[in-house]
Amino acid sequence: MATYDVAHRSAIVSGAGMGIGRAVAELLAANGASVVLVDRDRAAAEAVRGEIRAQGGTAAVLVADVTSSDWGTEAVRVAEEMAPLGIAINNAGISGPSAPLTQYTPEDWHRVISINLDSLYTGMRAQIPAMAAHGGGAVVNLASILGTVGQAGASAYVTAKHGVVGMTKSAALENAATGVRVNAVAPGYVHTPMIEKVTNAASYAALVSLHPMGRLASAEEVAQMVVFLASDAAGFVTGSTHLVDGGYSAR
Ligand code: NAD
Repeated sequence: MATYDVAHRSAIVSGAGMGIGRAVAELLAANGASVVLVDRDRAAAEAVRGEIRAQGGTAAVLVADVTSSDWGTEAVRVAEEMAPLGIAINNAGISGPSAPLTQYTPEDWHRVISINLDSLYTGMRAQIPAMAAHGGGAVVNLASILGTVGQAGASAYVTAKHGVVGMTKSAALENAATGVRVNAVAPGYVHTPMIEKVTNAASYAALVSLHPMGRLASAEEVAQMVVFLASDAAGFVTGSTHLVDGGYSAR
């Protein structure tokens, strides 16, 4: 019987310095994976490494910006120094400025698409061949509820997250016979530094009201779904996007 075990393999987590990425990295390490913490924020990534080591886990830091073309290759190299690569969580992302499509500057548009979407291409093109060489593995990409519906003022983010869902499907089909599974997780709003940066009390309450459960998700609740998909327990799951949205999409 396959279990939730993720031991005896290395795992790459981008954006591991805080929020969802941090929670995923800590849960993977607690379950035995050796984790590469990829983040552009060195202090944040090193704090997570300290936390994982204090709990008896194994982690390495890679300070990198996921908009660089070679971050994926570098992350695979660091991972395989610890253990064969079996898991990659492409999580780093930004919400971007809130503005109508017609008022988005080209610079902001390309930055949001680059971090939220292009980075999955540059990540997976290194991660998937490395996993296939070991007989298989699991990629989990962070989409969003905004990868399934639109939202006024967030066109670049919405475009990128719909792209994450599509890229996940195609990559899964291309690799179904190689043993590499590719899935996405689409959270509703999650209480993380990303949300803290862009909300005041009124706008936070407005976000809460979108969720029938009457609250936002915690990063740990999203991490549970991510680690399930990354584990052998999800052996027949590929090409799909999994909602963690407190009922948002059920209305
Ligand atoms: P966060 O802002 O709390 O943390 C993001 C982490 O990624 C930070 O450590 C940051 O330093 C790192 N990062 C950002 N840009 C980077 C870059 N270019 N290179 C390397 N590292 C970079 O974000 P979060 O809320 O934890 O979101 C994580 C993912 O989940 C994102 O893809 C986001 O779109 C998605 N998501 C978040 C929510 C939410 O409500 N928070 C909802 C749905 C989906």
